[in-house]
Amino acid sequence: MNNLFDLSGKRALITGSARGIGNLLASGLAAHGAEIVINDRRQERADAAAAALVAQGYRASGAAFDVTQSVQVAQAVAQIEETLGPIDILINNAGIQRRHPFTEFPEEEWDEVINVNQKGVFITSQQVAKYMMNRRRGKIINIGSMQSELGRKTITPYAASKGAVKMLTRGMCVELAEYNIQVNGIAPGYFATEMTEPLVKDEAFSSWLYQRTPAARWGRPEELIGAAVFLASSASDFVNGHLLFVDGGMLAAV
Ligand code: NAD
Repeated sequence: MNNLFDLSGKRALITGSARGIGNLLASGLAAHGAEIVINDRRQERADAAAAALVAQGYRASGAAFDVTQSVQVAQAVAQIEETLGPIDILINNAGIQRRHPFTEFPEEEWDEVINVNQKGVFITSQQVAKYMMNRRRGKIINIGSMQSELGRKTITPYAASKGAVKMLTRGMCVELAEYNIQVNGIAPGYFATEMTEPLVKDEAFSSWLYQRTPAARWGRPEELIGAAVFLASSASDFVNGHLLFVDGGMLAAV
């Protein structure tokens, strides 16, 4: 019972983890014993982020693929499984943001957002789940958002994609639970990262955020690690189809 959160002997593939929240989660899972596979579209970025973990004494390697390209994803997942070993934990973290008023939103940018945030989760999970089903065990964690539940001006496609991440989580749970695969999501509130840099710099936005969030501050990315370790470990073996909000209470407040 002391080892409920221990990830020793587990291998985690985290998409889009050369920087930002994914990179923090990589460090957090590594510190709890997991071997990490860092994904980025560019091999050199994935390798550099993996090397930084290795320099801290962790086991890590890089895997380059674009989550929107099913052939690339299938090849990369097969290669990881064959050369490194089983992917025990998949974190679908890769995501992008585009901001425009609704009626001016370019169709190409709608496609970009939906392809990475929504289709990327579908493609990557589909490939990894096949191996997990054969082993009859696995953990899939999808990174949602406040916009899995709440709309916000100028980011309607992002909200549509993150709402879909919630339902992908539930749908995959329903199909995969009987194979002892737990599919859950983490929905971060507002965290200061490169993605949110324009908002962090915007004083009006930050002062709105302090009032709107019961905790009255931005989230620190390392505060997502506890939720990820929980959902990646045997501590959550009967938790399935759940979206865990890590938001300083924002969703609880009007
Ligand atoms: P980030 O921009 O720092 O990191 C996103 C990563 O995804 C980057 O490394 C990028 O290279 C990668 N990526 C983008 N497209 C890709 C593709 N096609 N294939 C592979 N990798 C790709 O952003 P972040 O803030 O760290 O966001 C990580 C996740 O957390 C995203 O899903 C985002 O929607 C979500 N999120 C962030 C916040 C926040 O406050 N920062 C809040 C809620 C949810």
